[in-house]
Formats: sequence, structure tokens, C-alpha cells
Amino acid sequence: MTPQTASPTADHDPVAARAGILDRIAAAAKSSGREGTPPTLVAVSKQQPWSRVKPVLEAGQRVFGENRVQEASERWQGQRDLWPGLELRLIGPLQSNKARAAMELFDVLESVDRDSLARALADFQQKGVKAPRVFVQVNTGEEPQKAGVWPKEADAFIARIRSDYQLPLEGLMCIPPAEEPAGPHFALLARIAARNGLGKLSMGMSGDFEIAVRFGATSVRVGAALFGAR
Ligand SMILES: *Cc1c(COP(=O)(O)O)cnc(C)c1O
Repeated sequence: MTPQTASPTADHDPVAARAGILDRIAAAAKSSGREGTPPTLVAVSKQQPWSRVKPVLEAGQRVFGENRVQEASERWQGQRDLWPGLELRLIGPLQSNKARAAMELFDVLESVDRDSLARALADFQQKGVKAPRVFVQVNTGEEPQKAGVWPKEADAFIARIRSDYQLPLEGLMCIPPAEEPAGPHFALLARIAARNGLGKLSMGMSGDFEIAVRFGATSVRVGAALFGAR
């Protein structure tokens, strides 16, 4: 595997990096026999200066990932009108008291992982706030410090998202333990999605997005390899 460390230097070129990443995504999809729409590159813009984000927008990137509601709101305020097709995804943990703000800002919430949050989203949806598309985050490594529903609880939670909360559920997301090979975690997420009839898999980051594509990722979340070190 090629090293995927981001260049910490000032001459890191996000536009060139994006082109290279898109090529690698396409090549990984092709070599694993996948046809049709290539996986979506979610450009993780958290903590990145606008001077790195804007050129990537100008190059045609439209899907961005953020991990904090407040930071994302400051960065993307007023940008939707300027960049038609802009899609914002929340990939970090969401507190229930920010549920409404998140619903109003994001197109996709990838980190839905507990009933209290799902209930808050459902309540606002009932009051007429449009619900973003939802992913359930699965803690495939069962790491206590990490967000996400545990694998053995995933099926029941997914069922509640559909029947009790009636949120527009699209897929699953995971962040494998940093110190383990990611492949088995991606495979586990893909199995949980398949047995629950979910078509979308958000998995893979700067260091392992090609592996994720081979295991069926429909979107990869790439920050440092794209924009440079945070
Ligand atoms: C920061 C972050 C990423 C991007 O990580 P990189 O290693 O910079 O590519 C992806 N997913 C989540 C949930 C993140 O918080």
C-alpha cells in the first residue's frame, strides 16, 4: 500500500490531491469488479481553512463532511446559493440539544447512534422540520470511548429507526479502531447493511479508503489526504 500521509507543507495542492484521490477511488472500484456510479468522495473540511476548501469547490467538489454543528454552520453559512448541488454531511457525534440545528444545516446525518437522538430528530420531523437522510453509526470495534451502536444491537436499532422514528434511513457508517486492520470492520459493516436491506456504506478515510471501496463503500470520508494536515 502506498503511504497516504498528508503533506504538512504549505505546497500541498488540494485540487491535485482531489484528482488523485478520485482516480484511486475509481481504480479501486474497477479492480474489485464494481460497476456503475463510483463511490462518492466526501471531502472532510473540518478544521481546514477556507483557503484550502474554496479551490476544491471551484474544482467541482460538492459533498463535504463536517464533525461539529457550530463550526460547520460558521463555515457554510450563505454558501449554498453560491455552489448549486452542495451537500453537507455531519460525520461527528451529535448531541440531542443540537438536533434541530443539525437538521436545518445538513443534508445527511451519518452519526445517528442512539434512541434519545433518533427521538429528538423524529420529534422535530413531526413538527415539520425536514429530516436529513440518516446513517446509523456502528461501533464495529466495540470501543467504549467511541460513538456508534454496537454490532449486536444494530439490527434492533435500525428497525426502530424505521418503524418508531420513521427517519429517512439510507445506510451505515463506521470508524474502525485506529490500531487494527480496517478490512474486517468494513466487512462487518457491509454484512449488517446487507441483512437489513441498506444500500449505503460510509466507510474509509485518508489511510484506508481504497480498502473500504473494495469492501463496498458507497462513500469515503477523506480529510487530511485531500486538504493537507489539520
Ligand atoms: C476527521 C474524520 C475523517 C477524515 O479523516 P482523515 O484521516 O483526515 O481522512 C473521516 N471520518 C470522520 C468521522 C472524521 O471525524
